[in-house]
Amino acid sequence: MSVTLRTLPIIEVKGPPRERGRQQGEAARLQIPRALARYREIFPFTVAMTWEDGIREARKFLPYAEETFPQYVEEIRGIAEGANVPFEEVWTLNCYEGLPESRQQVWGCTCIAVRDDQTANGHVLLAHNEDWNSVDRDNVYLVRAYPVEAPPFLGMTYGPLLVNIGLNAEGIGVAIDSVYPTDVGVGVPRIVSSRGVLAARTIAQAIRACVPKRRAGGYCYLLADANGELYYVETSATTHEIVYGEEGWLVHTNHYLTPKMRALEEPGTYAGSHVRFNRARRLLRAQLGEVTIESLQTLLRDHVNWPQSICMHEDPAEPPHDREQTLVSLIMDLTERVLWAAPGPPCEGQYTAYRL
Ligand SMILES: [Zn+2]
Repeated sequence: MSVTLRTLPIIEVKGPPRERGRQQGEAARLQIPRALARYREIFPFTVAMTWEDGIREARKFLPYAEETFPQYVEEIRGIAEGANVPFEEVWTLNCYEGLPESRQQVWGCTCIAVRDDQTANGHVLLAHNEDWNSVDRDNVYLVRAYPVEAPPFLGMTYGPLLVNIGLNAEGIGVAIDSVYPTDVGVGVPRIVSSRGVLAARTIAQAIRACVPKRRAGGYCYLLADANGELYYVETSATTHEIVYGEEGWLVHTNHYLTPKMRALEEPGTYAGSHVRFNRARRLLRAQLGEVTIESLQTLLRDHVNWPQSICMHEDPAEPPHDREQTLVSLIMDLTERVLWAAPGPPCEGQYTAYRL
């Protein structure tokens, strides 16, 4: 029996927003229609509405995004054109986490940031396991981009989504955790904000991109730069909290950590998120001062509380539309501008280095 190690597809795009989008859409002509077809099937279960109702709902978000981040709406128009699929379907998936009722589900993700004085070789590292519905398992790809209006960047996305996790040539990195505030509404979709961080030239610009006015909801954004400045920004539609990585490291999962934001959190135990959070903190603490790419890989492959572990696997007990797994595992070396990526779950794959 031979084992073939998978690597992720990587797409290269350049130019103005619409043109970049077209290039992404064309290169992902397999992944995009496949994602749209799968979401059409699972919508009635995951967001408790038909595909058509979802499209109608997502339309309400568009004017807000066009006002704040017109360049990324253009990018999305290009993605649809390049993949030869309707814009409104692509737009709907970019609004997915803001659609009513999708909050019934708590999805995962584990984020870790480590400052240069805590790593063995003095590099700043940002790591992320992307846990999401396993329908997107085969839709993940990387994008290396050379925008005309912003720094080059290298990041991850799946299906028809904007690139939303990655690093840029200024040494700024972003990773995101889904969080579950009660004040959600119609506004700028959170994924558009995350895309905006990749255009930041300073850490302050990165923070500002996370909190546009009239936003629909929010993520927790884990931000870091090559100077070793580490932040997380917990956001909801109406408020936010900024936390600095005083000790040289940060861990975040899918529950709010600050008292102000916790007051806005949907009731729930968030047990899986707490378990991953504490486990990641414990494993990271044990290696502070000597953290390496390899030691973070080991951490991201951890199986305590399997299958809802840091390295997350599908639970066969769940109905197919509710199954979650780590889709991709990433470690960004912000000092070197290198992204290490492994198809998920990372215990079954190898990490490959991609240079910006
Ligand atoms: Zn695993």
